Amino acid sequence: MQHSTLSLEDFQPEAVSEETCIKILLQLKWPEGFRCCRCSHHLASMIRTRRLPLYQCLRCGYQASLTQGTLFEGSRTPLQKWFAAIYFFSRSNRGTSAAELSRLIKVTYKTAWLILHKIRHAISEADHKKLLSGIIRVNAAVHGKPDQSSIIRHHREQPLFVASAEDTLGCNPAPYFKMKLIPDHYLNEKTSLPTAIYDFRTNHIDSHVEHIQIVTRKYDSHRFKNLLTSVAQAGRWLTATYHGIGRKYLQFYLDEYCFRMNCSDNIYVIFKHLTSMCVSNKPITYRKLIYSNEDLSLAIQW
Ligand SMILES: [Zn+2]
Repeated sequence: MQHSTLSLEDFQPEAVSEETCIKILLQLKWPEGFRCCRCSHHLASMIRTRRLPLYQCLRCGYQASLTQGTLFEGSRTPLQKWFAAIYFFSRSNRGTSAAELSRLIKVTYKTAWLILHKIRHAISEADHKKLLSGIIRVNAAVHGKPDQSSIIRHHREQPLFVASAEDTLGCNPAPYFKMKLIPDHYLNEKTSLPTAIYDFRTNHIDSHVEHIQIVTRKYDSHRFKNLLTSVAQAGRWLTATYHGIGRKYLQFYLDEYCFRMNCSDNIYVIFKHLTSMCVSNKPITYRKLIYSNEDLSLAIQW
């Protein structure tokens, strides 16, 4: 089974058909042509009795749906609306609210909210897999500082680590940023315990890195002002675009902010990058998003 090359550069969210989106997804999922996930055979027959085609392996008979193992798995929303949502998410450099997306792609607020959260979850998962390398700078910071600061932690204050990585090989001149909330069990009021930075390093920084500078004290004269400024800017962006976010979903929004900082300005580059993230990541379920009492992002971040 072969397919011709389709270009995301030509994507028009208002004009694209469901059939074209099926072809785009097919190309992203199996760029070298069909490959059975059970026996690796390369030939399949297509069954078109459902909304989206099924592919049946001609050797072992395994049936794979087009959306299986992707962000779109289990969704009743047409692929055309999914791709349009990813396009509009990529187009905006300031973020997209669920109300805005529901108007743009003509779905309910609830569907738009869920689509956006699934996209953010794919971004968070991709970021979690990325280990920082090169020249690393890390600073402890606090999101959501109240006007009057005290040594007791205010309920809005969320301590985090902000980090940047500069490529020493010169392949990518712009630094890569991460902001990760520090779970409560690593904190003594606003101060992070030494195990917090140890675990942050283990989970987010390449173990072979040699150039690393870490600042954990608030008034350290060597603190990285550009990193602290980016945390303040993220806070203003969250307030302006989403009118403030509670702890439960905060990490996803911080990851979205860093994703936008780390991306190029070219909408099609972002669109391509984000689309491939969505194709290679399974979605978080609606039930888990809504009913879980846990801090959702911590499950994948620490
Ligand atoms: Zn097979």
